[in-house]
Amino acid sequence: MEFLSKRLESLNPYVPGEQPTDRTYIKLNANENPYPPHPSVISAVKDALEKSPEKLGLYPDPDVTELRCEIANMLNKTGGAFASENASADLGFEITPDMIFCGNGSDEVLSFVFYTFFDSDRPLVFPEHTYSFYPVYCGYYQIPMERVPLLADWKLDLDKMIQASSRNKSGMIFANPNAPTSLALKRAEVERILDAAPEGKVVVVDEAYCDFGGESSLPLLRTHKNLVIVRTFSKSLSFAGMRLGYIVANPELIQAVFRVKNSFNHFPVDFVAKTAAIASCKAVEYYAENARKIVAERDDFTAFLREKGYFVLDSSTNFVFTRKDGIGGRQIYEKAKSAGILIRHFATPGIEDFVRITIGTHEQMEELKKAL
Ligand SMILES: *Cc1c(COP(=O)(O)O)cnc(C)c1O
Repeated sequence: MEFLSKRLESLNPYVPGEQPTDRTYIKLNANENPYPPHPSVISAVKDALEKSPEKLGLYPDPDVTELRCEIANMLNKTGGAFASENASADLGFEITPDMIFCGNGSDEVLSFVFYTFFDSDRPLVFPEHTYSFYPVYCGYYQIPMERVPLLADWKLDLDKMIQASSRNKSGMIFANPNAPTSLALKRAEVERILDAAPEGKVVVVDEAYCDFGGESSLPLLRTHKNLVIVRTFSKSLSFAGMRLGYIVANPELIQAVFRVKNSFNHFPVDFVAKTAAIASCKAVEYYAENARKIVAERDDFTAFLREKGYFVLDSSTNFVFTRKDGIGGRQIYEKAKSAGILIRHFATPGIEDFVRITIGTHEQMEELKKAL
């Protein structure tokens, strides 16, 4: 159409898991948390609105200073992996609020990260099958991409990724644990990537699922200035409907992201989200307990699927990635949907046999087991 900008042509929007309104499904298709927020989150929002209703008419704190303090506290306490039994809360150093940046969900935060650190003069390196928003942002910012195929066992091909970024002298991004494969890298493997990264280029690690059994890379921030960690409240903190994502990195990098944010929207975190997020951080024990329940349910469901002849990758997340010989991913998806349960199927070549199933409550998983 004649009215549109040229750059719109390279836009290829992200397609989220369906959010149907025609009937009530059990939703296991968007990796949302099945447990509600802690009651203190609800009362914090109620109290704040009752005591200071004028706040809704005033611009919020553009730097969300109090929230960044609370996030730093939470990370120092939990080590950034709060469901892991072997999670060490001892990071070896203290995360300070000047190492945190907050935005309107980690999707927005990722957009700022792409703008701040990746140039359009060389291809950005990321795995072939990973969070499908990365190629979308490459289109948005017109950054060329080099997608590195996964190994035969669906793990990231670290050698090839390192080679590609050295060759391109470019940055890298991946999710750890990865989506939709659910597989996690060890911290030592992330460290190998950071050590091999080209001078002056960052490595972005998206830890959206780290609280469900991954090993956080937070301790590596002490020794690696080129590390940028992106995290979200959406999954482990039951916050997908409120929107809050954040970055943890060294203060100079955080300052650069602030410049980008202040060139786009001064106030990505509104007063209500800020209030709810602060209360969530303070209730982290409750969310850690929920994450442990989800992990136990995931392991139980994985055993069930394997017994029924499904191939299931070893998940470190709140979802499983699975397929079964002789039946397509689309068919499994349709079967679940007809039983009133939504799961996710990707038509992407290479993974079209698989489905991605979010781990819900015990009752929800029992329903799904019946349907399968
Ligand atoms: C869910 C998800 C996000 C986005 O989270 P929001 O904070 O809800 O925008 C980012 N990265 C990965 C890998 C995700 O799965």
